[in-house]
Order: sequence, then structure tokens, then C-alpha cells
Amino acid sequence: MTWVLATRNRGKLAEISQILADAGMPEQVLDLDDIDVPDTRETGVTFAENALLKARAVVAQSGMPAMADDSGLAVDVLGGAPGVFSARWCGRHGDDAGNLDLLLKQLSDVAMEHRAARFVCAAVAVWPDGREVVELGELTGRLTFEPRGSNGFGYDPIFEVSTDQGPRTTAELTPGEKHAISHRGRAFRALIGKHLVAGGPPAV
Ligand code: IMP
Repeated sequence: MTWVLATRNRGKLAEISQILADAGMPEQVLDLDDIDVPDTRETGVTFAENALLKARAVVAQSGMPAMADDSGLAVDVLGGAPGVFSARWCGRHGDDAGNLDLLLKQLSDVAMEHRAARFVCAAVAVWPDGREVVELGELTGRLTFEPRGSNGFGYDPIFEVSTDQGPRTTAELTPGEKHAISHRGRAFRALIGKHLVAGGPPAV
């Protein structure tokens, strides 16, 4: 079966493709460069809603089953923000450097012990016959005061986790190290392991 991966974010596309390959996802996977689908407005207020909106739009347009994710950063001291607004926190969608800069400025006076944050990911699969499944994944960490590392994308240079080699930002992890613990790795491995290898939930 051919699946479409409903994202235009190159960083996410690379990560999800590798996670799917590592999980032995046998089907062919296309992305939005392969099929013509208009951009979906992310009008949902939860990660799961937005991921479903993206996947449903691709299914409606292509007639093929689609996977999508919606993800973001939830900062404790900001009450869970930027949350679903992570990609457009500075006012410009997809401006990773602008988003990260603004967040660091907002938190410049917040001490390390209050800088706890989580990456959250909702991974979804939608079939043309209307079946839908959702799995969530999380990675807890804390925000640094300065960016470090050059891997990954988005807020990775300021999101620090504890590792055997001490604290490292997720931009200082190799892609394999990040996928093993990341919100996206966890959500997609659950999606595949629980639903896709079994062919999906019973037809509705
Ligand atoms: P989405 O494309 O609407 O899901 O936007 C997700 C946004 O959340 C991205 O643009 C990043 O700013 C942020 N984000 C999500 N996952 C990650 C990650 O793994 N590393 C860094 N930033 C992330």
C-alpha cells in the first residue's frame, strides 16, 4: 500500500521518513512534493486536531491513505505555550530562527529550575474509507539560555535533555539518538506498531 506523508516541513519529513524506515514500514511513502495538494489551514486547537486536518485533506485530494503529524513545544512557565502555535510563534509561519529568538527573549529572566518544557507530537493515520487513528508522544527537557548544536530543526538548539554524556540539546544529538527518544519517534512507532502493521483498525 502507498502512503502519503502530509507535511511540507523538510526537517519533519526527513525525521519521519527515517523513523518509518527504521520501524520497517514496508509500504511506499510519497510526500507532498509528489502529489498536488493545497496547504491546509491549521485551525485546530490541539495537536491531534491539526494532524487530522492535514491528513484528511490529503486523503480527500489524493484518494490515498495519509499519515501526518502536528507537533510543538510546550513550556511549563508559559502554561503550555507556544503549543499548537510553535511554528508561527513570532508571527511568521515556519521562521525557526525568529521563533527561537522570541522565546529566548521572553524567558531571559527565568532561572534554569523553571525552564522545564516538553516536545509533543500527535501522529495520525487516515484511510480513504474513513478510518482514523491517533497516537501521542512526548519528550521532556528544559530550555537553555543560548542555542547549541546544528542538527535537527525548529527549537532543537535550545531544548536540552539529560544523556549519558551529560546535558545535550536535541540539536547536539545525532539523528538516530534523537529519533530513539523523541516525541515524533515515540508517536510514529506507536502508530506503526499498534495500527499499521496490523493493517489498521477494522473497517467502519
Ligand atoms: P507543525 O508543522 O505545525 O507541526 O509545527 C511544528 C513546529 O513545532 C515546528 O515548526 C517547530 O518549531 C516545533 N517543533 C516540533 N517538533 C520539533 C522538533 O523535533 N524539534 C524542534 N522543534 C520542533
